[in-house]
Amino acid sequence: MKIGIIGAMIEEVTPLVEFFKNQGYKIEEIALGGNVFHKIIIQNDTLYIAYSKIGKVHAAITASVMIARFECERIIFTGVAGGLDSRLKVGDLLIATKLAQHDVNITAFGHPLGFIPESAVYIEADGALNAIAKKVAQKLNKPLMEGIIASGDQFICDESKKQWIIQNFQASAVEMEGASVAVVCNAFKIPFCILRSISDSADGSADVSFDEFLEEAARVSAQFSIEILKELGVKI
Ligand code: SAH
Repeated sequence: MKIGIIGAMIEEVTPLVEFFKNQGYKIEEIALGGNVFHKIIIQNDTLYIAYSKIGKVHAAITASVMIARFECERIIFTGVAGGLDSRLKVGDLLIATKLAQHDVNITAFGHPLGFIPESAVYIEADGALNAIAKKVAQKLNKPLMEGIIASGDQFICDESKKQWIIQNFQASAVEMEGASVAVVCNAFKIPFCILRSISDSADGSADVSFDEFLEEAARVSAQFSIEILKELGVKI
C-alpha cells in the first residue's frame, strides 16, 4: 500500500524522517509543488512523508499531490494542535472524528457557519483508520482522545475566540490544516486520519506554550503515527 504522511511544519516530520534514516532505510527525496516528498520503500509498502507548510491551502496542495501524483491510498496527518477541551493537556494525543473549517463564513446567504454549498460543515475521518489508532493506544496503554477538530488559517491564542470555536463547532482541538486534508481526501475518496498532540491551550499564553512544547508534542504524535503504520501492516 502507498501511504502519505503529512505534517505542517518541518518539526512535525523530522522525527519520522530521522526514525527511518536511523533504521537504515533508503530515502529518496522528490521535490514537487513547493514540497519535498521523502519516499521510503518498505517491502510491499511505500511511504511518502512531507511537511506542507502552515495553513489549509498548503496542506491541501500536499494532500492532493500525494493522492493524485503519488497514488497514496491512505493519508495520515501528524502534528500539534491547540487544546479546546479542558481535559487535554500538553503532550496529550487526539484523533479527529470529523473536521470543520471554523473560518468559513457565508452566513450572509443563510448558510450555517462553516458550510460550503456542495460540501458540508463537517467531514468525517475514516472509521477504520481511527479504530487502528485506538487499538494502538490500547496496546501502548496511552490515552487517546477522539473529538472534533476545527481548522482555520489563524493561530488561536485568545480565550474568547477559543470559546467561540467551542460553541459553534463543538471542537475539542484547533489547528490550521486538518480540515483541508479532510476535504481533499473526501473529494478523492481516500481514507484519512488526523492525529494531533497538544502544544498549547489556544488561550492568551498559547504562543509561549507552543514555542516551548512544539518539538516534544510533535515527537509524541510522530512516534504514535509510526505505531499506526505498524498496525496497518507496514513491516517496519
Ligand atoms: N511558530 C510558527 C507558527 C506556528 S502556527 C512560526 O512562527 O512559523 C501553529 C501551527 O501549529 C499550525 O500548523 C497549527 O496547525 C498548529 N497549532 C498549534 N496550536 C494552535 C492554535 N492554538 N491555533 C491554531 N493552530 C495551532
